[in-house]
Amino acid sequence: MKKAICIICKKDFLIPPWDYRYQELKFNKDKPCVCERCGFSLQQEAITVTGISPADLDRLDRVYRIVFK
Ligand SMILES: [Zn+2]
Repeated sequence: MKKAICIICKKDFLIPPWDYRYQELKFNKDKPCVCERCGFSLQQEAITVTGISPADLDRLDRVYRIVFK
């Protein structure tokens, strides 16, 4: 587990080794991270603002991970 600080709520949270952010943090300790709860509310906000469905966001997220891995 790696400890990270959420850039939104400023609280500590733990990233498990199977999370893709774990590897990112390993190489870049200062990488901004967002906890699950804030990430979820951000996603909800994005859906409300942009009208993009969660499935579309999920697809974008997967593309992002493949491209920027
Ligand atoms: Zn947070």
